[in-house]
Amino acid sequence: MGPGPCNPYPEAIAAMGRPMLGHLDPEFIELLDQTNDRLRQAFRTDNPLTFPVSATGSAGMEAGFVNFVEPGDAVVVGVNGAFGERMCDVARRCGADVIRVDARWGEPVDPQALIDAHPNPKIIALVHAETSTGVRNDVGCLHTGKEDALVLLDCVTSVAGIPVEIDAWCVDIAYSGTQKCLGAPPGLAPFTASPRALDQLVATPQSWYLDLNMIASYVIGEGARAYHHTAPISAIFSLHGALGAVLDEGLESCWARHKACGQALQAGLEDLGFTLFAAEGHRLPQLTSVWIPLERLPDGMDEAGARRALLDRYGIEVGAGLGPVAGKVWRIGCMGHTARPRNVSLLLGALEELFSA
Ligand SMILES: *Cc1c(COP(=O)(O)O)cnc(C)c1O
Repeated sequence: MGPGPCNPYPEAIAAMGRPMLGHLDPEFIELLDQTNDRLRQAFRTDNPLTFPVSATGSAGMEAGFVNFVEPGDAVVVGVNGAFGERMCDVARRCGADVIRVDARWGEPVDPQALIDAHPNPKIIALVHAETSTGVRNDVGCLHTGKEDALVLLDCVTSVAGIPVEIDAWCVDIAYSGTQKCLGAPPGLAPFTASPRALDQLVATPQSWYLDLNMIASYVIGEGARAYHHTAPISAIFSLHGALGAVLDEGLESCWARHKACGQALQAGLEDLGFTLFAAEGHRLPQLTSVWIPLERLPDGMDEAGARRALLDRYGIEVGAGLGPVAGKVWRIGCMGHTARPRNVSLLLGALEELFSA
């Protein structure tokens, strides 16, 4: 959403155009180290192994499972949307015995049900911000339930949008994505793993590319780096720039800006007579899900046509509904550089025009 449907921080776009460096050039290594430091601040962690995986958010998810799960391991997964489903699929492909803890789409997963689901799981996995429904799942108490279980958290849509506290919450494995609240172009999956998790690394994971044992000696540490794969230089430039924008603003201010925009958007939608989809008390400010008042659409316009009109006439892209609410719910992202009051006003004005035509 915003003027132009896709709108990263200007600092991220400018950084992407920097002249190329070799991937073992000392200047690039220094910039990678700075990027990793900035990621530690964004994740609120001291984990030494914190770096951007060289592929989109889903690769962070794969890295999180393939490095820690061996065939037969019990993995508990909270499922209340498309990304929880994806976690189950990824874990199953690693040979995990997947124990699902389901909640209805639009509702949060019950953390106690996750703790109670298995006596001794290898991993308890949860999506912090379910982008498919706009629901925030509660995380803080998961580590207290099972001494040995690793807590794995999908933070793709939460980092830099709402409070994420990897160390304070004792999360062992977490990943994010660049194109959500971090406000950079897509292409990387910021990743972090605790020393406790690294003690349990699978010796030879089923993925060569995502093998943390090998990647670690390239992306972190002192002195010379061992080549593993060629880092996507421009993508890392852009992430470095976006993180600079977020940290210059201040992480707390960035969370507050997302919160204010989300609240204004959600209140404005209700004023227009729309009904919000996600459970009250668990609504994400950065992703608002709303029932589409299909009966109020202009004559001859269907749901997809209305989204198309928003894009063509106002330059605003809203997301279609997924899974059981496809065609019934819209998902309105208001994240990163796009989370500005003027964009909220623009969308609310556009909806008012469209639905009263
Ligand atoms: C977007 C998203 C992903 C997947 O990220 P890609 O960059 O599309 O691979 C995973 N989890 C959540 C919660 C997401 O919103």
